[in-house]
Amino acid sequence: MRRFSKCRSSVRRRKKRTADYAMQEMHDHGVSPWPEARQSAGETEESEEAMTPYQRHREKWKGCERCSLYRGRRSVVLCRGKLPCDVLFVGEAPGVSEDVLGRPFVGPAGKLLDEIVERALDGQYDYAITNLVACIPKAVPPVVVNKRTDDFDVDITRKGKWGNPFRIGPDGSRSEVLGKYAGWLPEQDALLKSLPELSGKLLGCVCVPLACHGNVLLRAWYKHVGADKLSEPPEESIKACAPRLRELIAIAKPRVLVRVGRLATKHCKFPVGVSCIDVIHPAAILRMDVSQQGLAVQRCVAAIEAALDDL
Ligand code: SF4
Repeated sequence: MRRFSKCRSSVRRRKKRTADYAMQEMHDHGVSPWPEARQSAGETEESEEAMTPYQRHREKWKGCERCSLYRGRRSVVLCRGKLPCDVLFVGEAPGVSEDVLGRPFVGPAGKLLDEIVERALDGQYDYAITNLVACIPKAVPPVVVNKRTDDFDVDITRKGKWGNPFRIGPDGSRSEVLGKYAGWLPEQDALLKSLPELSGKLLGCVCVPLACHGNVLLRAWYKHVGADKLSEPPEESIKACAPRLRELIAIAKPRVLVRVGRLATKHCKFPVGVSCIDVIHPAAILRMDVSQQGLAVQRCVAAIEAALDDL
């Protein structure tokens, strides 16, 4: 039914969107259709006015440092596909391939998502893909700084849970106190479990440049977390990136929003009037037994088709 009900209005809409997309693709490949937009640094107001909404979006977010994920990224991974679109897919976070190539869902899970999209949309609907966060959630080591002279994210003085309970003086010299802390920390299960919280953070103490228990914390972080490991995006990053996602949804103006994966279901709000469905993340499908993968893909395809049929 859906296939035969698409008629001239659909063709007209597609032509318009193809033009939009051509502009976007030119931009993606570093070719600007607007001479003004090629002006460097001291851009004029005119050049900004000549940009498409998506180009302005890219300019706004390309250097974002709103959360600590910026410290581990190569690229700010915003969106791929056509804008505006009928269907917007929102996943969770860029992985390694996405970080390198600067485009969402381009690794193995992305290939599977493309297959699902192709089967469900059958070339009749425009679509775009983005994520809850635009930067790879990679474990970046914390850095210990002096809170009196430097900006910091986490206070590791005795005021909070990361403080050293042993004091210079009553508990010995600086090196003795650090030795006691190094012996005490491995027995603190709650603190060890919380170490991922410190990833990418600036730890503020009052000792640097002198030896400090922050260095002991840093060694524990390497042992229990480890640099470059991928993790789920932390909630604070999802919140920090929410305005970017809202902005992209406003540009995309989707009729159907597909939340891909558990985290997207939990955190992605959808605008009034937009149909929203949830599908399993393709990465989770790839982790299933091969005998179950076909059924999982078919369920995703059927859910998306049903949402489109209801439009
Ligand atoms: S708010 Fe988004 S774009 Fe900005 S640093 Fe965090 S994840 Fe990256």
